[in-house]
Amino acid sequence: MFEKIVIANRGEIALRILRACRELGIKTVAVHSTADRELKHVRLADESVCIGPPPSTDSYLNIPALISAAEVTDAVAIHPGYGFLSENADFAERVEQSGFTFIGPRAETIRLMGDKISAIKTMKAAGVPCVPGSDGPLGEVVEKNIALAREIGYPVIIKAAGGGGGRGMRVVHSEAALSSAISLTRTEAHNAFNNATVYMEKFLENPRHVEFQVMADSHGNAIHLGERDCSVQRRHQKIIEEAPAPGISDEVRSKMGKRCADACRQIGYLGVGTFEFLYENGEFYFIEMNTRLQVEHPVTELVTGIDIVREQLNIAAGEPLSFSQDDVVINGHAMECRINAEDPKTFVPSPGAISQYHPPGGPGVRVDSHIYNGYVVPPHYDSMIGKLITHGESRVTAMARMRTALSEFVIEGIKTNTALHQDILLDSAFKNGGVSIHYLEKKLGLK
Ligand code: ADP
Repeated sequence: MFEKIVIANRGEIALRILRACRELGIKTVAVHSTADRELKHVRLADESVCIGPPPSTDSYLNIPALISAAEVTDAVAIHPGYGFLSENADFAERVEQSGFTFIGPRAETIRLMGDKISAIKTMKAAGVPCVPGSDGPLGEVVEKNIALAREIGYPVIIKAAGGGGGRGMRVVHSEAALSSAISLTRTEAHNAFNNATVYMEKFLENPRHVEFQVMADSHGNAIHLGERDCSVQRRHQKIIEEAPAPGISDEVRSKMGKRCADACRQIGYLGVGTFEFLYENGEFYFIEMNTRLQVEHPVTELVTGIDIVREQLNIAAGEPLSFSQDDVVINGHAMECRINAEDPKTFVPSPGAISQYHPPGGPGVRVDSHIYNGYVVPPHYDSMIGKLITHGESRVTAMARMRTALSEFVIEGIKTNTALHQDILLDSAFKNGGVSIHYLEKKLGLK
């Protein structure tokens, strides 16, 4: 196992990684910006290194600063967490070239999955179901694109190959709007991602977001940990996640999970990852693979009893998976509410000092958060300040525990979105389970 690692992230996930390291006897180096000296994991880490001023581009995205932090502390590996540099193939490459282990997939895998067209091609070849589409970049010939859209059937969606974060996409409902939509998306994609390549897909009108968690070691073992439903979203940002996904049978789970695990074996995947699908009328359509740990990993941990971060560290250290597919049993139901420092109605971020903090507890309640009494939420980063996760023998119990936990949760001094969560948990469509990705925006009157 690693002697010492650098945690190249901040907030709740840095703390989550630190906890896994402590359990495994790995020494930790926290890196932080000047705005983040008071982060909980910085206080708890064995060592800490300030890597720059508050803006992420000068600190958490500053590759030379991160590498030198590993050098000066004699660390042997770097954990990127999620966001920031976690899916940056150049970073993974630089880390390895500098003699450290990147805790994640190989750089070439990250690169392959980072381009949506190559990711879809790879997955199709590996037998993973994809959205009907152009199977490659769109060319300049108008007639060809028109013929393609007719074949797929309207509505279609034009997407940037290099897109991310829900940007670089445009839905087209009619032939008249097609050509201008393609050129507009091309221009936007060029400006935003420095890559004008676009492709076409069938636009699914009312899908759910269902994703599969996978893990693959360097000994040829690949397994899946079942699925999560992350359909409750606003502006493509997930707000509530749960496992298992309502209405997915054991048989469908095994079949789809096996396809994902098989695909991992075929592409020589290493580490933990997620296959994201749109799910509509009983069919799965692959949209992208996330080559990192996800925010919502705890719901899978609670229903499988498997510590995903510990396994991730073991895999990166070259050890084989400590269990087989047959050992993975889905037990009960888990739900996660992302707690954001923001106005629950306007969604305007609400940084500032936390004057009172009383987290909830009791059976089946887990709080993954770095905040504490007196902590000041800086204005420079993502507004997520923690995750409230509950588990129970059924979805009904997990929801009841979530409602109780939300009502106990005291965070004063800043605004949070707990009231929005309480509202959703009382909504009959959500209570029934299986809402689509448009559910929340419609409920909020945004659609
Ligand atoms: P990003 O990498 O920007 O997150 P994705 O390909 O994962 O892009 O798509 C983001 C979101 O856009 C999806 O979760 C879904 O809401 C919507 N979307 C993408 N492709 C389609 C499609 N073919 N049909 C319907 N919605 C889509």
